[in-house]
Amino acid sequence: MSAGHRSDRTTIRAAEVPGVSHSMTTRAIHAGTRPDPTTGAILTPIFQSTTYVQEAVGQHKGFTYSRADNPTVAALEARLGALEDAQPSVCFSTGLAAETALFLAFLKAGDHAVLSDAVYGGTVRLFQQVLDGLSIRASFIDTSCPEAVARAVTPSTKLVFIESPGNPTLKLTDIAAVARITQAAGCLLAVDNTFLTPVLQQPLELGADLSLYSTTKYIEGHNATVGGAITTRDPAKVERLRFIRKSIGSIQAPFEAWLTLRGLTTLPLRIKQHSLNALRVARHLEQHPAVSRVSYPGLPSFPQYSLARRQHIASDGVEHHGGIVSFEVHGGIETGIAVMNNVKLCSLAENLGAVETLITHPASMTHADVPLSQRQSIGLSDGLIRLSVGLEDPSDIIADLDRALAIAASKPVTVPSERNATCLNAL
Ligand code: PLP
Repeated sequence: MSAGHRSDRTTIRAAEVPGVSHSMTTRAIHAGTRPDPTTGAILTPIFQSTTYVQEAVGQHKGFTYSRADNPTVAALEARLGALEDAQPSVCFSTGLAAETALFLAFLKAGDHAVLSDAVYGGTVRLFQQVLDGLSIRASFIDTSCPEAVARAVTPSTKLVFIESPGNPTLKLTDIAAVARITQAAGCLLAVDNTFLTPVLQQPLELGADLSLYSTTKYIEGHNATVGGAITTRDPAKVERLRFIRKSIGSIQAPFEAWLTLRGLTTLPLRIKQHSLNALRVARHLEQHPAVSRVSYPGLPSFPQYSLARRQHIASDGVEHHGGIVSFEVHGGIETGIAVMNNVKLCSLAENLGAVETLITHPASMTHADVPLSQRQSIGLSDGLIRLSVGLEDPSDIIADLDRALAIAASKPVTVPSERNATCLNAL
């Protein structure tokens, strides 16, 4: 595709796409797509095509080769961008592919990045075991304290990357406060907004330059795809990200984009219900005698409850704080593992954000590649259980947890002394 053509396309503001003036719920269904002009099909077709026939040399309809661009992926990008009044997003094969592209696009050898200490374990691994070898340095700090961010930023810092709520402890970062710091320092602020999505948190409105998503989670929402996306209002950053994506070959596949478009239509409804269910489960766990600690931003006992209320988007007077709850049980890791081994309705699995309730042991699963000392310093104990509360009836989820908690209290498991030897497959 000629550079001229590309920049024409990417300068289309999402505000110009149909549906963008509507509310979030309507945008999630209509923005960025229209019935197929050839057939009238209401859904954007799956353009399962590698290449696009050109009318003459240098003349084409906007698509040339599906590593650079694909019409189904472009439809998803227009709709996702519209959810944040931004440029069309840039979609990737996975959330980690999106992160890789972000870091390669805006960091080079000698640069420094500041990251939240409570982040997805794969982000830590990418910096400590891949980018470090390219002389890109990272500091993992407590970004819930804006002063700590200000102290960590140096002249070589080019990017601050935060996750709020952080995975899996749910610690929050005040995005607007950190944005003031990055703007003054002249570096970029990117927010991993996977847990809340644009429906419950708008990082760009709060001053961030880029928001990033593992669309694998709530955005697609049905445990059917892996995917990633980055959204920004700056056309030059879109160009840079698209260039990196084309160069490293990490675009999303058309079928995944089609499934994600379909999942996206119900995102606003789903994430609000996930939040209501999570609040009910969290309230129940909080008063359960076998549970020693519950973290959920919607509980008044959550240390950053007032920030959660300020930063997360309520609708029709109802607060929503996402679908993830983390908790610990009395009896430590042995009892915690017994709980996870004895649930029946909840599934013991990696991933979050889909309709099924998933229970995860971060220390041996999602965060197994994070060094023990780093896990301990962020409060990620070996006994921490992460629950991605699904869309089943919350009474059934609670009954399943109660039953597993009762069994675990009577029969805790014996944990192998070399626990890390069981951490084989950190994802
Ligand atoms: N960001 C967060 C917050 C995540 O939880 C994950 C995966 O669990 C990722 C990014 C990476 O996404 P993916 O698994 O789609 O590569």
